[in-house]
Order: sequence, then C-alpha cells, then structure tokens
Amino acid sequence: MSIAPDTTVVLGHRFATEVPEIALRWQAEAAPDPRLLVLNESLAAELGLDPEWLRGPDGIGLLVGTRLPTDAEPVAQGYAGHQFGGWTPRLGDGRALLLGELTDTEGRLRDLHLKGSGRTPFARGGDGLAAVGPMLREYLISEAMHALGIPTTRSLAVVATGRTVQRETPLDGAVLARVAASHLRVGTFQYVAAAGEVDVLRRLADHAISRHYPGAAEADNPYLTLLDSVIAAQAELIAQWMLVGFVHGVMNTDNMTISGESIDYGPCAFMDTFDPKTVFSSIDSFGRYAYGNQPAIAVWNLTRLAEALLALIADDQDRAVELATESLQRFPQLYSAAWVAGMRRKLGLRDAIDDGTAQELSEELVELLERERVDYTSFFRRLASGAVEPAFEAWAARWRSLDPDVEAMQRVNPVYIPRNHLVEEALTAASTGDMEPFERLLRVITSPYDERSGFERYAEPAPEDFGSCFQTFCGT
Ligand code: AMP
Ligand code: MG
Repeated sequence: MSIAPDTTVVLGHRFATEVPEIALRWQAEAAPDPRLLVLNESLAAELGLDPEWLRGPDGIGLLVGTRLPTDAEPVAQGYAGHQFGGWTPRLGDGRALLLGELTDTEGRLRDLHLKGSGRTPFARGGDGLAAVGPMLREYLISEAMHALGIPTTRSLAVVATGRTVQRETPLDGAVLARVAASHLRVGTFQYVAAAGEVDVLRRLADHAISRHYPGAAEADNPYLTLLDSVIAAQAELIAQWMLVGFVHGVMNTDNMTISGESIDYGPCAFMDTFDPKTVFSSIDSFGRYAYGNQPAIAVWNLTRLAEALLALIADDQDRAVELATESLQRFPQLYSAAWVAGMRRKLGLRDAIDDGTAQELSEELVELLERERVDYTSFFRRLASGAVEPAFEAWAARWRSLDPDVEAMQRVNPVYIPRNHLVEEALTAASTGDMEPFERLLRVITSPYDERSGFERYAEPAPEDFGSCFQTFCGT
C-alpha cells in the first residue's frame, strides 16, 4: 500500500532562486497514457522516495512532471555550448526540465530532472520529445557507469508516455527521470559569460561552489579554485572513462559537467577491440571525440570554462589569463596520475612497485593492445587467470615478475560491460514490448565484477558481423 502522500516529496528550487536569469519557469507536457517501464528502486530509496508510491499514479505523475508538489518550481535551464567545436550561443533544455532538488538520505542535494518532457522556449526546431529506445539506453549506460564506480548522473525511471514521436519512423515516446549532483555544465558558464553580466556570473559561480566545492569559498581566490576543482574532477573522470574503454561520443561543452559527473549518454559506447581511433557517433566524421582524443578534448572544453571565468579570476585580465593558463597546464599531470593509479589496480600491482615502473609497463601494454587488436575488457580478466596470447608473452613475463595480486584484479576489472550488440538486442526487444532482455542485461551490468555461470555470452565481444560498422545515432 502506498503510504507516502505526495506532500512528503520536497522539491527545492535553489537553482531557480539563486540564478533566476537562466531558469525559465516551465511545465511538462501531459503524457496521454503513462506506463512505467523501469524504476531504479535502490536509487529511489537513496533519495528517500518510496518505490511503491512511485509506481502508483501520483508517483508516475512526478516521474513525468505532471503531478508535482505544490511548492515545486520546474524550470528549463539556459546554457550555451561548443558543439563539435562550433559555438552555439543558445542551447538550453529544449526537451528537458529541472523539477527541483531533492535532499537524499545522506543530506546531499540532488537534481531531479526530466528528459523528453515536451518543448520549452529552448526547443528551437525540436519537438521536445524523446523515444523509448534512447532513454532506456541512457538508463542502461548510466547505471553501468555507476556500478563501475564512475561518477555519473543516475537514472531513476523511464516512463513510456503513450505519445508517438516522429523520427525516421514513428516511435513510442518516453520520459527519463534523471538524477544528478547538479546539471551545471561548462556551457552554463559560457551562456552567462557571453551575456557579459558579471554579477550573474558571480552568483552562478557561488552557486556551483556551494553545491560542489564548498571548500573553494574559503580559498584566497575562490573562482580560480573553482576552476582548479573542475579541472581536477574532470581529469579524474576522463581517466576513469579511458580505463574502462568508454567513448562518450559527444563531448560538447554543454555535455561536460561542473560536478565531474558523466552526463548525456547519446551516441556513447564501450569499445570491444582496443583502438584509440574508435568513434561511435554517426555525426563525428572527423573523429573529434574518438576514444584516444578524450583527454585532449577535456582540456579544450576546460579552456572554454576558464575563459568564461576570467572576469572573476582577477580584475587585471592579463593576470587572469596567466593564472587560468597555469591551472589548465596541470591537467596532463593530474590525468596521467589518475590513469596510472587506475592501471596499477587493473594490473594488480602492489604498492611496493614504483610509479615509473607502473607507468612504463602500462604504456607498453597500451601499445601492444593497439597492435594486437584484442578485446580490451576481457584482456584483463584473462591476464589475471593466466591466459595471454603469444604476442603478450614477453610483456606478461615482466608483469609476472612483479608478483601481481591477481585476486585484487578480479575485483576491479569488469567481466560485464554494456557491450553494443547486447544493448542493441535489449532495446530492439523493448521496442516490441519485451522488457525481459533489458532487465536481464541491467542485472548483469550492475554487478560487473561478479562472474556468473550461464552468462558467458554477456562477457564476449560482438560477433564479427555486428562488427566495426556499429554506430550509435545522436538522434534521440
Ligand atoms: P543533446 O544532444 O541531447 O546534448 O542536446 C543538445 C541540445 O539540443 C540541447 O539544447 C537539447 O535540449 C536540444 N535537443 C535535443 N533534442 C531535442 C528535441 N527533440 N527537442 C528539442 N530540443 C532538443
Ligand atoms: Mg546535452
């Protein structure tokens, strides 16, 4: 029985109150026939929401944005962005809404946000809608990332709306309820900076500091410290992506968060065969967002953030540029330290092994992986169990001489990732109304280190014929 009346859901509106200039009050479009497709019960519990209540009419009304607590102030957020390097001064939530902020059971503020909830004033030519497939895809990938210990926005639910969405073919519409530390992006700062309103920019920066890096408020230069904090968080995040073979696919500045969480899973995917040139997005014809380019693109995006913050960093703009440049120059070192630390874990290297050795061994392995074109994820599990192909023998002999902890390796190297062919298979079944393959895949990838018999197929790379021409479409 449902025990929680809707009045127990408290949705704050700090963002809307503190930065009203970029928060447009807006309402979700009605969903003619809402049907809950998937609910994240453990995340609901973490947010203090009763899963049973969420499954009922009031809960589903919350999840599609049509039945909100009376004090809620849903808003479409404004932001700009560089998309594939080209500047777009006004993007914003064209088909999304920030319903407000929930306080989770640990007292942390978490955005509750909808994607696919109808057109907003930022919609430009778009219909404001989302189809079931891409929303289930975001659900799967974000929950896999979370299970792999990688900072990410979370997925609370996908609700089919009963509305038809016209893409190349008519598709079933859906709304994704997404949870994030916040939805502040590099593009949010670009939007406000481009408008030249320094007082709004300062308020936005203070809002970001108070939500994500409260320590920065005490620093000598809080806004430079904010920049440093985002640089450090993104260096750590991108290293995590690289370590699991994740390709984001659309690292536009509007898709890079201030919190350091991964966001906006469109044409993203995990690599099977190791190849730094791997690109999945059908629209990324020049490979700008290829696997191997991600650290460099992160610096490019963070440089746009630094530019947006210059007015706050120092009154003298030459001095501000100097300070921001020093901060940006620290990225490679931070990234490399995070990557080597991760490779140490993946290779089971003990603390006694010095970093120089760890780095050299890791870099040589990357060269071999690329040359031999092996399946990236399963390589580390096979290595731990003593199975390496002949081309790796010399390298492996050196690795073995360091007495690696092979049991520890099984706890950090995933058996199961959401491989593209499995994701496609699950989404194809879901599009015919069969959610079973989706649910099974979700169970597998949310316990990624726990090898289970009967699930061998889920650990294997795509069959040859699925192969290299696989692309995920931005479409949405
Ligand atoms: P994304 O590719 O999801 O990061 O979106 C980039 C921008 O396009 C954002 O401003 C979105 O709000 C907007 N957008 C994407 N799809 C739609 C749509 N179907 N209707 C309206 N706006 C959209
Ligand atoms: Mg986006």
